Amino acid sequence: MIRQAKGKTPRRPPPKKTSNNQKDPVGVYCRVRPLGADDEECCIEVISNTTIQLHAPDGLKANRNGEYKETQYSFKKVFGIKTTQKELFEDVAKPLVEDLIHCKNGLLFTYGVTGSGKTHTMTGSPGQGGLLPRSLDMIFNSIGPYQAKRYVFKPDDKNGMEVQNQIDALLDRQKRDSQSTVPKTPNTRRIDPEFADMISPEDACRADGVDEDSSYSVFVSYIEIYNNYIYDLLEETPFDPIKPKPPQSKILREDQNHNMYVAGCTEVEVKSTEEAFEVFWRGQKKRRIANTQLNRESSRSHSVFIVKLAQAPLDADGDNVLQDKNQVNVSQLCLVDLAGSERTSRTRAEGSRLREAGNINQSLMTLRTCIEVLRENQMCGTNKMVPYRDSKVTHLFKNYFDGEGKVRMVVCVNPKADDYEETLLVMRFAEMTQEVEVARPVDRPICGYTAGRRQRNQAFKDELTRRLEDRGGPVDGEFPTVLNQLLQSFPPLPPCEVSGPNDDVTLPRLIEALEKRHRVRQMMIEEYNKTADMLKSVLQEQDSNILSKENFIHEQRGKLGEKDKMMQNQKNEIDRLEKKSKMLEYKIDILQKTTNIYEEDKRSLQHELESREQRLQREMSEKRRMESRMQGIVTDAKLKWEKECERRVNAKQLEMQNKLWVKDEKLKQLKAIVTEGKTENRQPQRPSREKDKVPPKRSASPSPVPTGPAVRPLHRRSHSAGGERWVDHTPSSNVDLDTVLQPNIPNAIKVNAPNEKALSKCDKYVLTHQEVASDGEIQTKLIKGEVFRTRGGGQAVQFTDIETLKQESPVSSSRKRRSSERRDARGESGPDGEPMDGDWTDVETRCSVALEMRAGSNLGPGYQHHGYTKRRKP
Ligand code: ADP
Ligand code: MG
Repeated sequence: MIRQAKGKTPRRPPPKKTSNNQKDPVGVYCRVRPLGADDEECCIEVISNTTIQLHAPDGLKANRNGEYKETQYSFKKVFGIKTTQKELFEDVAKPLVEDLIHCKNGLLFTYGVTGSGKTHTMTGSPGQGGLLPRSLDMIFNSIGPYQAKRYVFKPDDKNGMEVQNQIDALLDRQKRDSQSTVPKTPNTRRIDPEFADMISPEDACRADGVDEDSSYSVFVSYIEIYNNYIYDLLEETPFDPIKPKPPQSKILREDQNHNMYVAGCTEVEVKSTEEAFEVFWRGQKKRRIANTQLNRESSRSHSVFIVKLAQAPLDADGDNVLQDKNQVNVSQLCLVDLAGSERTSRTRAEGSRLREAGNINQSLMTLRTCIEVLRENQMCGTNKMVPYRDSKVTHLFKNYFDGEGKVRMVVCVNPKADDYEETLLVMRFAEMTQEVEVARPVDRPICGYTAGRRQRNQAFKDELTRRLEDRGGPVDGEFPTVLNQLLQSFPPLPPCEVSGPNDDVTLPRLIEALEKRHRVRQMMIEEYNKTADMLKSVLQEQDSNILSKENFIHEQRGKLGEKDKMMQNQKNEIDRLEKKSKMLEYKIDILQKTTNIYEEDKRSLQHELESREQRLQREMSEKRRMESRMQGIVTDAKLKWEKECERRVNAKQLEMQNKLWVKDEKLKQLKAIVTEGKTENRQPQRPSREKDKVPPKRSASPSPVPTGPAVRPLHRRSHSAGGERWVDHTPSSNVDLDTVLQPNIPNAIKVNAPNEKALSKCDKYVLTHQEVASDGEIQTKLIKGEVFRTRGGGQAVQFTDIETLKQESPVSSSRKRRSSERRDARGESGPDGEPMDGDWTDVETRCSVALEMRAGSNLGPGYQHHGYTKRRKP
């Protein structure tokens, strides 16, 4: 036989922890159980095989406004009330069992309120085995023929698995047999009728791709977590019916691969479905008893059934399990029946039970929190600490979430309306759980030995047995032809019939022949051995060749896997980039459109701007034209006006010259009168001068100072019946002469200053004017005039005559007249009441001026020359 030296065993690299970046969401399934009674109100409807709909019960709807409307929840799959246990198993648990056999871990738990069917789903009932018995059955159906002998695999106390040598295993087996009272083989054993119907061999399931060149062994443990304490349900404790010892709780530990395990937990090696289920049932019973004894409520505890599958490659012979701890693979499937998720106890717990309820809530709450944080971390890329350690349940399953494995959950619901509110919470939790992703377990690399070892070994064993049997039986010519030929090639035996007692030839000859044959045989054996050894070494060489090739292939496969992974990563990256690029393209598109719109806007605005600019230009040129036109008009007007002004100034100058001339003439006349009066030799007025007294010519253009009509016709006041009435104006400064010459006018109104009132009543005016003559005598002149009513309603005086009375001055010959007199003579004051100073200094000037006062006017007098001939008073 070819035996590989132990040291040459190709070592498998230690399993890497989550080198895998492929993830799968937690598979969440929903199972709706049938209503307990037909008359119960139902609040759940299965809409499709992935969706259910919750209806709020009528009472709730009425109470809470709109909050409880119809809600839909989707799952990986929904199992309606008619779903069989088998169907459920095929969908939910079968892949997990397949994974288990292929060295991958799995976690399956049932979640829901009490009475929703968790235990029914997990364990089942007689005739309706649940996921657990079916999983066990599938495991044993798959690995049955490849199971190692009992005690070949032996769990160490650190969650690891060792391979015992054949002898130790044999000794352990013998020990067990001697202790155990049960029959050795399960086939002959009577199956517990209590659960017999739960395992149904007719539904047999089998995993594909079981490695025949490996040896398998199944270990089960069963724990209960109650009030956050872990109890081993398979622990063998001597039962004391008088004083039952309370069960001891276990603690959690982490092994060298950072996997959590229950320290010191019993692991029972089982070789068949029946045996495994029997162990489970034992634990179940123990649980029931403990719950009854300790007055606990089973719905408040979590039960965890752990199936561990150890597998190790056969040695190169395909005969025994390879004794190498590193080659042992252990995978596990945890089947968890969680405590009822309801917030309050269903059985109206009081006191300590209520406190327990708090704890159970706590552990499920922790589960919820962990799932929440996980989801948040995964979705938002955060790195929040997941509080696995806050409860035993989550702590135990930590590795499934932060390590790798397949996690599935069956959410059980009872459609009855009473459960509505709790069910709603269950649904929300389930929805959230579906968003958590767990790293997909990687394929374990195969060991370095040639495949088909078990089969070859079996074939060899079969052949050997057959041959042995053949040799033991009668020679019937069935020896292999080679052997026959060999035998025939020997020299024939001499006749061996002894002729008589003295025949000493036959026997020695026979002996010689036989000895010869013996020698030949010896030689042949040697030859055979030599050839066999040679063949062996050739085969060994071949084997090692193949081995190295296989190693190479393995290596290449590993590389290929890595490349595949890389490619996958790159593909993902490409996908991501493509998505991004699509997004960007979309954005660009939008921006382009926006740009187009803006450009359109810009164009139209520019267009408008241009048209406005043109308009502005037009208006500007229009304005300039207008300006130049205006300038022309202004220059024209200016020129015209300048000419006009010049013309007027000339006219005015002429007029003024005329006036000056008139004044001169008057002065001359006055002087002539004066001289005439003195010498009593008056010169007659020169009529020739009279015609020079032309009234000033007025311009047709408007004058800045309004002067009234050109020649105002003066209306003479009609004489009253009593004769003429006089205004006798005697300035108060006059010297009382008391002479004969003193004029005395009867019926006259005497005034010191002329006023309108007086003037209006009279038609004659006389001013007694005194002045010192050249000879020192006071000369008194009586200046007479006629009063006229003017068209403006005022009075005007037209001087007509001057009479001179002469007398010697009593005071001073050089007395100067005061301005007040002049004021009196005019009878007027300025608009501001100030005395008017001016060129009215002498009587001559005053004489030539007619006074005009407008009725009701205080604007001041208008004045004008009246070209009337002065008559001399005789
Ligand atoms: P839980 O473990 O969630 O408290 P159980 O599994 O004990 O609930 O179920 C309560 C009852 O309902 C049991 O009598 C069980 O047989 C029954 N039941 C639950 N689910 C189903 C189902 N799918 N079909 C028929 N009966 C069911
Ligand atoms: Mg239950």
